[in-house]
Amino acid sequence: MTDAPHIWHFGNMRVVPDELCGVKLLKGAEANLCDMEGHLDLPDSMLEKLGWVVASIHDPVLPPDTAEDYTAAYIGAARNPYVDVIGHSGLTRHPYDYEAGVKAFRDAGKLVEINEGTFLSRPASLENCLKIASCCKAYECRVVVNSDAHFAAQIGRTPKALAMLAEIGFPPELIVNTSLDRFEAYLEERRMRVSRAAV
Ligand SMILES: [Zn+2]
Repeated sequence: MTDAPHIWHFGNMRVVPDELCGVKLLKGAEANLCDMEGHLDLPDSMLEKLGWVVASIHDPVLPPDTAEDYTAAYIGAARNPYVDVIGHSGLTRHPYDYEAGVKAFRDAGKLVEINEGTFLSRPASLENCLKIASCCKAYECRVVVNSDAHFAAQIGRTPKALAMLAEIGFPPELIVNTSLDRFEAYLEERRMRVSRAAV
């Protein structure tokens, strides 16, 4: 993405502490899907050093194409062991087969992002977000709720995303960040997945 951090930024994460002012820090990246096979714009050698990886489609990187191609792209990204989250996938210009995608995400142990920022910056996507969340509920795919803040003052604020999940009776046990224990259990699961990939 134009104006994104240079790749060296992600190679410098070792200087960032694991805890700062009592706040635990996860060092990660939102990587771009670069093609219809779901390859990302950070190499595995860099992804393996991160503790949290969101994989998303952004318009300037992956222009509009068919739902069939985007389904393949998302499923390809979900096969990457370093990916934790499929990011803001309700994009109107990048539709995919939600049922097939969500089942693949679940089977690969990936989380689907339910994103507060969408309510502000991508309101046209909300209808799709509701369909994706409903698929996650139906197929028991876990989600993570976050702000996609873009500015520090909004971090941790997710009222509209939570209201949307409440509207469809989304099971709290499928939301990995409802408690520190549940979130740390996911992190342990990802540590095991990543270590298996490294063998
Ligand atoms: Zn994004």
